[in-house]
Amino acid sequence: MILNSNDKPKEKCGVFGIYSKENNYISELIYYGLYALQHRGQEGAGITVNNNSLLNNYKNTGLVSEVFNENILKDLLGNIGIGHVRYSTFGENNLYNTQPLVCNKNKISLAHNGHLVNINSIKNKLLKKGYNFHTSIDSEIILNLYLFFKNCNLDFREALKETFNSIKGSFSIVMIIGDKLIGIRDPYGIKPLCLGEKNGDYILTSESCALNTLEANFIRDINPGEIIIIDNNKINSFTYTEHTKNLCIFEIIYFARRDSIIDGINIYASRKRAGIILAKESPIDADIVMAIPTSGVAAALGYSEESKIPYAEGFVKNEYIGRTFIQPKQKTRKQKINIKLNVIKENIKNKRIILVDDSIVRGNTIKKTIQKLKLNGAKKVHVRISSPPIKHPCYLGINTPKKNELIASNEDIESIRKKIDADTLNYISLNGLIQSTGKDNEFCLGCFNNEYPI
Ligand code: SF4
Repeated sequence: MILNSNDKPKEKCGVFGIYSKENNYISELIYYGLYALQHRGQEGAGITVNNNSLLNNYKNTGLVSEVFNENILKDLLGNIGIGHVRYSTFGENNLYNTQPLVCNKNKISLAHNGHLVNINSIKNKLLKKGYNFHTSIDSEIILNLYLFFKNCNLDFREALKETFNSIKGSFSIVMIIGDKLIGIRDPYGIKPLCLGEKNGDYILTSESCALNTLEANFIRDINPGEIIIIDNNKINSFTYTEHTKNLCIFEIIYFARRDSIIDGINIYASRKRAGIILAKESPIDADIVMAIPTSGVAAALGYSEESKIPYAEGFVKNEYIGRTFIQPKQKTRKQKINIKLNVIKENIKNKRIILVDDSIVRGNTIKKTIQKLKLNGAKKVHVRISSPPIKHPCYLGINTPKKNELIASNEDIESIRKKIDADTLNYISLNGLIQSTGKDNEFCLGCFNNEYPI
C-alpha cells in the first residue's frame, strides 16, 4: 500500500517497553523502538521511565520525531520504561488521550494497543466507587480497574489476573508497576506482542521490527492469555485465563511492517506467498505486474514470480509525507494523495497491467488509481487483491468503516469491477490466504466471514 491509505482498515497503536539492569538512558532506545513502530500510529507518542521509583512521563500529539528531541530524552532518565504510538479509533486525538497513562501515586504506567468491548458497565461501576477518569480512552478503564483490585488488598499478580479476566476485547499492553516491566496479551492473541533481549536487557514490543532496529535478539511471542513480568532481570510468566489463537489476519495482510515476524509468521514471505497463490487462482495474460506501494509489493512480486510476467514499478511514492489516512478531513486526504503518488509513465503506456493490492475497503481510491493508469495510457488494468472481499466491520480495535460503507458487503465482484473500472477483478480465496501464512487457521477472520473470536 499506501496509495489509497484512506481507504484501508486502520490500526490502533504500537507499544514498547524495556527493562535494563544498569542502563539509565533507555529513553533513547524507546525512542528508536517507537520510531520502528511508527506505522502503527501517527497521531501521538509518549514515553514513561521509572527513575528510582518515580515515574517520569512525556507525551504529545504528532509523530515520534515531532514529539521528542534530544533535550526531552535527556531528561527522561530511568532503567525501566514503556512507550506508545497512537492511532485513535476510540477517543479524540488530544494530549489527554495520548499514552502511556500514568498514575504516579501508585507508581503505575500503562500503554495499550487494542479495543475493549465491555467498557461501559465497568466504567460505571468504577465511577460509582469514586474512581476518576481524565481521558476518553478505554485504556484508562484498565488502569483504574487494576487500582480497584489492588485496593481490595490483592497482591499485584492477583490484581492483574482479576483485571484482565474482567475486560473483554483485544489488547496488547505494556505496564510499569513499581520496579517491574509487565506485558499482557489478550486471550485470543488478536494483537501481537513479543519479547526480545539485548545485552541482558529485556524488551517488549508490538512487532519484532523494533528489535531489528535496536539489533536486539528475538526471544519469543507472548502467548495469548499470558502475563509476563520482568523483575530484577528475571522473567516470570503465567497464564491468566483460557486462551485460543486468533491473531488479526490484517496484521499479516497489511498492518505489520514487512520485516516483522509475528507468531512465527514472516510477514514478507507470507505476503509474497499470497501473491503466488493469487496468480495460481486467478491467472491472466498481461505485459507487467505492478503493485500499489508499499504493502502490495510483496504480493505483486509473488504474482510475477508465479506467472512469469515481469514486475515493474508503476508509481513513485513521496516518502516525506505522513500516511494519508491519519488526516481526519476528507479534503486534506485528497490533497495529500495527489502529492503522494505519481506514475512512471513509460512503464504504463500501452501496457496490459496486473495491478496488485492487499485489500479493497470502500473502493474509492483503487478506482482513482485505475483512472490514473488509464489516463497515462494503460491498455488494460486487471486488479488482483491479496485478501478476500471485506464484507464485515471490525469490532476489535481496527477502524474499518461501517458495513454499508464496505463495497464488498453491498456488491458482488462483478459489480465492484464495473464500479472501479477494472478490466478484470479477482480476490484471493480465504483458504488461499490462510495457506499463505503457513499456519492452520489461527486467525480472526471476522471481516471476511463474520466470525469473531469475541
Ligand atoms: S475483524 Fe478483521 S480487522 Fe478486526 S481483528 Fe478480526 S480480522 Fe482483524
